[in-house]
Amino acid sequence: MSALTRRLFLGGAAATAAGVATPGSAAAGTSADVVVIGAGLAGLTAAREISRAGRSVVVLEARDRVGGRVLGRPLGTGDFTELGAEFIGPTQDRIAALAAELGVPTYRTYDTGDYIYYRNGQRSRYSSSGPLGPIPPDPTGAIEAGIAIQLLNQQAAEVPVDAPWRAENAEEWDSQTFHTWIQQHAQTDGGRFLLRLATRAIFSAEPRDLSLLYVLAYIAQAGNEDHPGDLTRLVSTTGGAQMYRFVGGSQRIPERLAAALGDRVRLGAPVRHISQEPGGVRVISDAGTVTAQRVVVAVPPPLAARISYDPALPAARDQLTQRFPMGSVIKVVATYRRPFWRADGLAGQAVSDTGPAQVTFDNTPHDGVPGALMGFIEADDARALDAADTARIRRETLRNFADYFGPQALDPTGFILSRWDNDIWSRGCPVAFAPPGLLLGYGPAIREPVGRIHWAGTETSTYWTGYMDGAVRSGHRAAREVLTAL
Ligand SMILES: Cc1cc2nc3c(=O)[nH]c(=O)nc-3n(C[C@H](O)[C@H](O)[C@H](O)COP(=O)(O)OP(=O)(O)OC[C@H]3O[C@@H](n4cnc5c(N)ncnc54)[C@H](O)[C@@H]3O)c2cc1C
Repeated sequence: MSALTRRLFLGGAAATAAGVATPGSAAAGTSADVVVIGAGLAGLTAAREISRAGRSVVVLEARDRVGGRVLGRPLGTGDFTELGAEFIGPTQDRIAALAAELGVPTYRTYDTGDYIYYRNGQRSRYSSSGPLGPIPPDPTGAIEAGIAIQLLNQQAAEVPVDAPWRAENAEEWDSQTFHTWIQQHAQTDGGRFLLRLATRAIFSAEPRDLSLLYVLAYIAQAGNEDHPGDLTRLVSTTGGAQMYRFVGGSQRIPERLAAALGDRVRLGAPVRHISQEPGGVRVISDAGTVTAQRVVVAVPPPLAARISYDPALPAARDQLTQRFPMGSVIKVVATYRRPFWRADGLAGQAVSDTGPAQVTFDNTPHDGVPGALMGFIEADDARALDAADTARIRRETLRNFADYFGPQALDPTGFILSRWDNDIWSRGCPVAFAPPGLLLGYGPAIREPVGRIHWAGTETSTYWTGYMDGAVRSGHRAAREVLTAL
């Protein structure tokens, strides 16, 4: 079977399982009240709300699967692991409510036992239930990192979640990178190392890539209407954004959303062009043209920039998407007959200065079999390996795992990875981030509709931007906008 035939076949099989329309089945000349571009959580949530309100909707998805940055992979045991989004935590109420409604239960991420701190070739164990929580006991850096977190939380409290550009210090904060802030506020090697590591773990970008204002806004948004954002929540497992996982894998959520929408979801339909005409929009995809009253573009900003628009978008919106790059991440999962590290009293979490996998988690599924270790390769480390062959990434990652958890890690039963930077329908992950100048110069264009075009996607959310929860929130907001306008 040729690669192309196989891709189409697999796409068809996945689509049939989900009950959605296969590539090529989208009829040219379809019309609907609303067309949604992108079948990630944002687009599917918007489509669900629009359909529930009695309006007709068509979802056009470029890939031959739904879910976007949510991607499951079978483990060969009937269970799945995640190569994209995986965890949820307290205050992420919208994704939690959606999963509950769809009958996808959660379970606690394995977080029992010691974490590993691996620095300068030295391995030490520590408990994450100590006063510094998940911050490793670096002799000089831990205290400094703890103080920095408090200061960042204080500064973040001054940032309006729906308009960071209106913060009193917006100009000063959006004129510098987070690297500059770290250099000013951390004097020790250990402190700087820990803050850089946390930055990479959250954004899959280097501190030099990020606007300070954007980092503060991201912290402010890591909460909900009742609980202010908190950096500790971003980096913690118990009590934080990594606290729970979904039984059977997170991909069950978009799959169930798509199954309920049925043939309203069209796969293999990359959208190339949107024209706004008197009385409606015309959306041209590789699988046909759809006319509608309104369109919701639910794709990451760098992907929205690849669609052509007629008339051209306002300069502010176009320049926003020119400046909004994705992070760089490779996610790896090694499987073992059993989670052997648990017997040693280890939680499977490591924080390390030795790449490529500097942050790890116990990724064992709900029923405990097989054992699975997950590693993130991020920012500069991911960029360095984007073109490397899988054998090299496997070799180097397993070496890391062995340094953290012992030589048994060198002998996995399976090894899988996802390279998000090389995926043309994501162009990197987990989120598009703002370099200096973006929020202040162009921020308001992120959600502002342009005529009949509305914008969704996790990047447009005011809470939990970058996360599944933000994607769901953005889908609700875009649906409300469209339903009001129809
Ligand atoms: C490795 C990794 C780990 C992550 N970990 C977590 C986590 O633990 N917890 C968490 O909450 N979040 C996590 N995230 C982030 C989370 O996946 C995203 O925030 C969320 O899934 C974004 O959803 P979305 O619908 O906004 O965008 P997407 O999922 O990107 O959906 C956009 C869709 O649009 C499609 N598309 C793009 N261009 C076009 C076009 N021209 N025409 C038609 N379709 C198009 C894409 O194929 C895609 O399906 C992680 C992401 C990655 C990659």
